[in-house]
Amino acid sequence: MKNATRQVFAVSPQANQYLDLTDSFEATFEKLYRCSGQFSGLHGNLNRCIYLDAEFAGSQSPVNAVVKRVSGMPWIHTSPTTLTAIRSDLWNILQPYFPPHVTGRLQFEESSLHGKYSYVTVYCTQKYFIDYYRGPNSVHNECPKCRGIHYLDASIRQAIVEYNLGTALVFTDDGLTFSFDGELISKLGLKDRFPELRFRRIPVITKPMDDDILPGDPEWAGAFVARGRSRRLGQDL
Ligand SMILES: [Zn+2]
Repeated sequence: MKNATRQVFAVSPQANQYLDLTDSFEATFEKLYRCSGQFSGLHGNLNRCIYLDAEFAGSQSPVNAVVKRVSGMPWIHTSPTTLTAIRSDLWNILQPYFPPHVTGRLQFEESSLHGKYSYVTVYCTQKYFIDYYRGPNSVHNECPKCRGIHYLDASIRQAIVEYNLGTALVFTDDGLTFSFDGELISKLGLKDRFPELRFRRIPVITKPMDDDILPGDPEWAGAFVARGRSRRLGQDL
């Protein structure tokens, strides 16, 4: 197989930093912003969709999050609720390269932090998602509510199909976590300017190595086709 020429790197903070959401905001996020759909996993278990609610995301409404405190890191994730906050100095550099997105505010419960840090929350809608799990034996399923595609086996190696990248330089697989083109990282000097960031390479392949048909594939006819799941189950039995 011809080697792909593009290089893609997932971004995360050096230290595993998470937003410390207030209990009330986390409850709000789970109830109002997160998709309530469920889909069956590899062995029939039910998984909750991690994507944003389709109606909420479609309305282009901001996620205005409230946190107890922040670490000051330029890039922060949340867990278990999936949400990304980017410090304003980094966001000002990155924003021109992002796929269409919606930004919101990040507010701090501890009043002493007001004015010390400034962050935005960022999400993209499903139309711009690309799948990070197209390697061999990868298995996907679709959320029946939002039609978002999920990978089912986290032990599978990540791989992005090159034709999914198009001309974009910033990518997302779920609207809330992001990766960058290697040339953009160099051009913006991100490693030198933001040494707290970690960049993990995701292999780029020229065509999918799983059997599924996902949005953006040449065979895509408007509906997800789950050939990988039945093959994996056949192997596992
Ligand atoms: Zn969903």
